[in-house]
Amino acid sequence: MTRSRLDELIRTDENRTVSDRQILEEIQLRRLNDLLARESRRNGFYQLPSELASLEELSSLPFTTADDLRNHCPQLFLGSLSEVEKVTTERTSGTTGAAKRIYYTKEDLEHTVAFFAAGIGEMASAGETVMIRMPYSGPDSLADLIARGIRGCEAVPLQLRLGSLFEQCRQYREEKPACAIDQPVPLLAKARYYEYLYGSGSFPLRAALLSADSCSAAVEKALKEEFGLVLFPHYGTREMCFGGAITCQAHQGMHLREHQLIAEITDESGRPVPDGEWGELVITTVDMKVLPLIRFRTGDRARFLKGPCPCGSVTKRLDRVRRIGKDAEILELLENRFFGLRQVLDLMVREESGKYDLELLILPGGDEAELKRKTDSLDTLPAVTACIRTADRNSTLLYPGKRVILHPEGKR
Ligand SMILES: [Zn+2]
Repeated sequence: MTRSRLDELIRTDENRTVSDRQILEEIQLRRLNDLLARESRRNGFYQLPSELASLEELSSLPFTTADDLRNHCPQLFLGSLSEVEKVTTERTSGTTGAAKRIYYTKEDLEHTVAFFAAGIGEMASAGETVMIRMPYSGPDSLADLIARGIRGCEAVPLQLRLGSLFEQCRQYREEKPACAIDQPVPLLAKARYYEYLYGSGSFPLRAALLSADSCSAAVEKALKEEFGLVLFPHYGTREMCFGGAITCQAHQGMHLREHQLIAEITDESGRPVPDGEWGELVITTVDMKVLPLIRFRTGDRARFLKGPCPCGSVTKRLDRVRRIGKDAEILELLENRFFGLRQVLDLMVREESGKYDLELLILPGGDEAELKRKTDSLDTLPAVTACIRTADRNSTLLYPGKRVILHPEGKR
């Protein structure tokens, strides 16, 4: 089996062959100590030792949280504004929360493009069209970085236009892409609506890189079994400059870009857990230039897969990732319940006073009685009502971005 392209990228970046974990961990410790020394000289937000003797000592340092990022960004900033090439701002839904800003240098962005190229190169061959459905807002936006990664593999990037599912299917029909980069549910909705419009077996994709949202087991199964797609899940967050972990040819978890970040999985009390156990993903972005984070709590539930990957890579692999908390658990339960039904295109959930309202978008000619039975038998989640809508040519996806349970303004 071909070794993960990430290993080749690490070899190129580090100018040495990383044949075992010890070499990789030496690189991590060197970068971590460089970062601690810079932090120490600046005397900013982190009041930490300027050097650690081993990677194990990292777990003795305090966490950084999303609130720290919102409230102490100037103190966390390590560099000068003249180095900043791009800023992302994540607004909070509440009325009082400060915006979370992340700053990137040109070098950060170029590292991400190279990392994307490694991940996309596992999926797409030279000359193939790759349809992108990710936010595009000009140069250095996420879709632009992805497009550059696609070109780096000599494949052809194409941005999917916003609009109705029907319009998106029409663009797929015209362009016949071989691969796509999309969120899981929007991709499944398109595939199902496409085959409703143009016939069974007509959806043109052969592979997809799934990103920017968690993927429930039912959605993954449907994409693989109904449409024969080869899936390449990707994990990334803004804090790590969008790119974090990619899938290799073995399709057994996502390889972390460990020469540029250090990942830990911790339990509720903050202690690291052994490989194979679930916990919170904590990252130290040792290679970010102006906003490196030390032990940042991602709020994502994950685990490291045990043992080495069949591809032979020395990097650790993440299993399926989703947000921590009851909402993500309930959303996953509902997705697993309903997306197994071929008539379901999309599902939105609202909660108020412990009562859950589902909105289901289904294919024309769907069996509403079957959906009703599925809703009534949700004994693990009482007080569920469903509103069923049949898709037409003007129907759009129910969520504009990440899928979450919606609550009344200001309430959780
Ligand atoms: Zn692998």
